[in-house]
Amino acid sequence: GRKLLMIPGPIEFEPEVTRAMGIETTSHVAPDFIESFGNALDLMKDVWKAPAGQPFVVAGSGTLAMDMAAANLIEAGDHALVISTGYFGKRYRDILLRYGAKVTVLSAAIGDVISLEEIEEELKQKQYKLLTFTHVDTSTGVLVAPEPIALLAQKYKVLSVMDGVCSVAGEAIKQDDWGLDVVLTASQKAVGVPPGLALLVASERALQTWKNRKTLVPNYYADWGNWLPIMKAYQERKPSYFGTPPVNLILALETSLKIITSEGIQKRIAKHMRLATAFRLAVASIGLKILPKNEDYAANTLTAVYYPIGVQDAEFRKAMSDRDIIVAGGLLPEIKTTYFRVGHMGSVSEKDLVATLSAIEYALSQTGYAFEIGTTLKTFQQKLQ
Ligand code: PMP
Repeated sequence: GRKLLMIPGPIEFEPEVTRAMGIETTSHVAPDFIESFGNALDLMKDVWKAPAGQPFVVAGSGTLAMDMAAANLIEAGDHALVISTGYFGKRYRDILLRYGAKVTVLSAAIGDVISLEEIEEELKQKQYKLLTFTHVDTSTGVLVAPEPIALLAQKYKVLSVMDGVCSVAGEAIKQDDWGLDVVLTASQKAVGVPPGLALLVASERALQTWKNRKTLVPNYYADWGNWLPIMKAYQERKPSYFGTPPVNLILALETSLKIITSEGIQKRIAKHMRLATAFRLAVASIGLKILPKNEDYAANTLTAVYYPIGVQDAEFRKAMSDRDIIVAGGLLPEIKTTYFRVGHMGSVSEKDLVATLSAIEYALSQTGYAFEIGTTLKTFQQKLQ
């Protein structure tokens, strides 16, 4: 049968979004398309809660959005602080190093977060230009609280860059209120659009930092100098050209952001929290452990779950697939085959998670884990009633 995609991106898309991908491709300067691109940029500001922010939409994956923030804000020799809660913190370190930053990494133990005291202590050591953190690290399912970090960044006059690839439109975000300088994501996660768009909103302070650079941005494609006039033109509903935009992906983005904002972003976030909380309780009810060490910092967009002793990763996921549910394996190299990940974001529903839990119970019993069948389903449904 048709398999249900329950990985942390790409996710299952709304039919209207998928249909937008198949619309006859128009010119990137056709009036209708200019209107759609402009709408998508306006809607991003609503979803990010960044009325004063500057949105950028560029063809590429989430890694390009990370690269773009680093390329435009870092000059060789600048100090950068990476607050790492998993795989994607390490990626940010590698990107920043490429641009000649002097990088310090604060690395949390697996499933843990870095304390604010530790971050503040580090910010006192030298004048950092920029700090990065991962809102939800997709390798661990650890959720970091953005507001206190953004406040610390302001206190020490450091730019704050949030990797929101696994959080934007799934976790609470208030970019302007919190004073985050860059919030970036990719299309294929909670934003609900096929892979291929790098999405980023920059604060006025970030743009000023870029404008005051003494050196050229050492990356031609990512240079805001090339893209800022294009984004402004679409926002003003005027034609422009730098690099041909992925027309159908942008139509799909407009469609998905309209669905998200008409449902209401607050309602959307609350749905993620409700389903994720019930899902975590359900897996705990048969003795499974999740990677985050504390429920207070467990993400609502995905859950990373350790296998019980004896259950083999390949065998488990094959049994899941036989039941038409695709989940992801581990991503942290150190512990890759010891856990699996379930994405539950975007258009995910209660029925998707009921089907997933049912398949998890089947796969676990096939691979030799003993528990009372039906327990996770009972827990999940009781929690949601
Ligand atoms: N950051 C996070 C938190 C992610 O989850 C991902 C993708 N899994 C990325 C960055 C990189 O995005 P992409 O794969 O689209 O380049």
